[in-house]
Amino acid sequence: MTADTLPVDDVVGNALVPISGLLRLLRPTSAVGFAIKGLDGRYRLANPAIEELLCRPGEHLAGRSEDELVPSPTCSLLAECDRRILAGETSAWARVELARSGQRRHYSWLKMAILAPDQTLQAIASLIEPVTRQQASPAIQETLRRLQDANRDLQQMVVELEQVASTDRLTGAWNRRRLEESVQSEMERMVRYGHSLCLLLIDVDHFKPINDQYGHAVGDAVLQRLTALLQAALRKVDSLSRWGGEEFAVLCPNTARATAAAAAERLRQEVANAHFATVGRVSVSIGVAECAAGESWDEWFARADAALYRAKSGGRNQVQVAPEVPCHGDGKGYVVANFVQLVWRSAYECGNEIVDRGHRQLFADANRLLSAILTDQSADEIGTIVDRLLSDVVEHFRDEEAVITAAGFPAAGEHLLLHRALTAEAHRLLDHYRGGTRAAGDVFQFLAYEVVTKHMLGADRMFFDFLRPPEAAMNPAGQAGPLA
Ligand code: GH3
Ligand code: MG
Ligand code: MG
Repeated sequence: MTADTLPVDDVVGNALVPISGLLRLLRPTSAVGFAIKGLDGRYRLANPAIEELLCRPGEHLAGRSEDELVPSPTCSLLAECDRRILAGETSAWARVELARSGQRRHYSWLKMAILAPDQTLQAIASLIEPVTRQQASPAIQETLRRLQDANRDLQQMVVELEQVASTDRLTGAWNRRRLEESVQSEMERMVRYGHSLCLLLIDVDHFKPINDQYGHAVGDAVLQRLTALLQAALRKVDSLSRWGGEEFAVLCPNTARATAAAAAERLRQEVANAHFATVGRVSVSIGVAECAAGESWDEWFARADAALYRAKSGGRNQVQVAPEVPCHGDGKGYVVANFVQLVWRSAYECGNEIVDRGHRQLFADANRLLSAILTDQSADEIGTIVDRLLSDVVEHFRDEEAVITAAGFPAAGEHLLLHRALTAEAHRLLDHYRGGTRAAGDVFQFLAYEVVTKHMLGADRMFFDFLRPPEAAMNPAGQAGPLA
């Protein structure tokens, strides 16, 4: 296994100039192994020839890395090629020995850098073909020159593939996967450089009635127009993603809370003043939260979500900003600033009396705990409320499991597992609370965000359509006042 010739000349010869040539490499009939891997070391795209060479029958290359596919001496040679490309070379190759159908043979494995338009490395392409005697003549320079041409086409192809994988099909906004990738890198930048980072959650008000009255296609058109409006009103650095149905998220890097709040208010006004074909006026509610030091994505998101719920329950067509999170330590200040009373809305009802009663009870329990904490009640009194809460959670989960199982909800088994995990977490937390290592505020936070916001208002929605009686589904979502 040595690096002596570059026998890819006639291979790539056909494939060099137009993109159709590259696409030809991906065709099932191509004899040349061709694949593209991302900078995470995992393959994204592969043609059958390379899969036949590297994978077992029926297996695919996508998602796998070289160390799962080839023996370690070969892997080291390939890693060396990668290292050279990461160091700035545009191509590197190795002569490797691979076994196919029990026969060992030498192959030429050429790797090429795929650069983004700004010349940063975006992916690495591989071309593999068997080494034959005739290929010993070194047409290296010429081949490399032509590979550079091919690189431009490859770049474009990878950019397009990334685009397809990152955007929502209906609106063209980023999808949730892309947002979460971006959140991760922005949170790292925030920690490293101390920039502030804000999240806006935008939810269309009374969207369901639009669908009901004018049909789904009109609803779709509203989402498309809304996306265009929001995108035009945002700064270039702010990214708009479709989080789900009629809910959008905007990530604002390098933006302090007050600026994000002003931007959110501008977006709200833009939407409220716009005319939407067929339906006329549309409004949005927006929750804003600035990422706090030490906060996880889930915690940060939950605070933006809580602000959004306040905007909804406060009458919609408005912006609400999550309070700043002071440093942990002073337990009480943290609780006061960080928590809001949970407000029950009739849209939370699934139509099943037992499940709805359980959900309301948990809202009431969580609010009772919050006011006990805020009014400085004794540890004994708080302890009693906490115990009651836990037994209500357990009882509600049991009731809900019976209801969804009886209703034939297909994912009942998975939902049961979620309940089990939450119950175990609640027990663990309460043990810590009783042992004095966790504060009552942590118990409230767990209930408010993990059990209520994320589970009841998130996972539970999956079975709502299963339980909702047909006539209840037609009622427009209303709202109720705060729970006593
Ligand atoms: P609220 O003001 O409380 O947000 O009320 P709402 O009616 O907007 O909220 P709800 O969550 O009850 O309804 C959201 C609706 O969005 C229900 C769902 O059918 C619809 N929806 C979700 N995705 C799409 C989509 O891609 N296209 C269309 N047309 N409708 C969608
Ligand atoms: Mg809505
Ligand atoms: Mg549940």
